[in-house]
Amino acid sequence: MTLQFEEATRVKNLPAYLFARIEKLLDEKREAGVDIISLGIGDPDLPTPDYIIDELKKEAEKGGNHRYPSSVGMIEYRKSVADWYKRRFGVDLDPQSEVVSLVGSKEGIAHISWCYLNPGDTVLVPDPAYPVYSGGSILAGAEPYYIPLKAENDFLPELNAIPADVAKKAKMIFLNYPNNPTGAVATEEFYKELVAFAKEYNILVCHDAAYSEIAFDGYKPLSFLEIPGAKDVGIEFHSVSKTFNMTGWRIGWAVGNPDVVGTLGRLKSNLDSGQFEAVQFAAMKGLDGTDDFVKEMCNVYQERRDVLIEGLNDMGWNLEKPKSTFYVWVPVPSGYTSESFMEAVLDKAGVVVTPGTGYGVQGQGYFRVALTVSKERIQEAMQRIKDNLGAVKF
Ligand SMILES: *Cc1c(COP(=O)(O)O)cnc(C)c1O
Repeated sequence: MTLQFEEATRVKNLPAYLFARIEKLLDEKREAGVDIISLGIGDPDLPTPDYIIDELKKEAEKGGNHRYPSSVGMIEYRKSVADWYKRRFGVDLDPQSEVVSLVGSKEGIAHISWCYLNPGDTVLVPDPAYPVYSGGSILAGAEPYYIPLKAENDFLPELNAIPADVAKKAKMIFLNYPNNPTGAVATEEFYKELVAFAKEYNILVCHDAAYSEIAFDGYKPLSFLEIPGAKDVGIEFHSVSKTFNMTGWRIGWAVGNPDVVGTLGRLKSNLDSGQFEAVQFAAMKGLDGTDDFVKEMCNVYQERRDVLIEGLNDMGWNLEKPKSTFYVWVPVPSGYTSESFMEAVLDKAGVVVTPGTGYGVQGQGYFRVALTVSKERIQEAMQRIKDNLGAVKF
């Protein structure tokens, strides 16, 4: 007899896996022999640069790297992260107390909730957003209070619209700029407001800067930690995943407030034993190097972005070119929901886009396109939509 295992409440409370339906539709299409163009995947198609792979090979052969690593990262790795922050953002970090390595930033984003949220606590989570902010806090038993990101506010939250009783209860806020899924960027003025808001209500700021290096037309995204007082109120998550096409390598970091960095490290010492040292050395090779690779990669994304925006605008959209991230957040034409538009372009054009509702209820009326396929395929996707969807109205 097979036993029945009752899932823990925290797991039952996790939101349903929203992409399951898309995957089922996709399988049906593939089986029917349709050549699918997927603009749905937030994972770089370009490879990790050779000089980083070579460093992994070299370090993987050294026996000294085969043992358990430190759960907070090698000091050399943490120093490399601190030096990169100094060079890139002018931010001073003490490698010993203000940098902790992560097994990809997702790991730290999910675990920070375990450090500071008790069951029933309130946490401020943007909507739409990367699902790990709410997922991690739900696993910790906390209750996300969703703050809407709206087009009329350039997809920045209106902090002064958060009811005072909610702000008083809230222990933490998650934010992410440059933003997945909207492609929005944050201004210095916004970050200043954020620091003041955090101080007023005693809220820990968890800022996710995963896309800070993917930017176009000469734009340079800020780090939240560049703002005076930021280190008093929070930390920033980052990784080499998007910067060097290393999503599969699982190596990132959290930096900033030393108490928070220390607490996250303490939690992690009970959960994992850090990342393989050879992988840390490889990430250091990227961080310590020049920015030639990143510049070239951004040029590739920029060309793809331009092909996509021109293609959509040619069909009747009226989109501006996003300054950062490899995403474009696009309103659906009139007569469609996020889901019905996704199904229509898949059915009629064999093109996959992600429905905005995958990132929260505020995503209704939008879809996300990822620039993670070649510009030729993007061009073809645009042509197929134009030829097969029929005229679009707004
Ligand atoms: C891709 C991504 C990350 C990076 O995740 P890693 O675990 O570092 O690979 C973090 N935040 C957002 C919003 C992302 O899209």
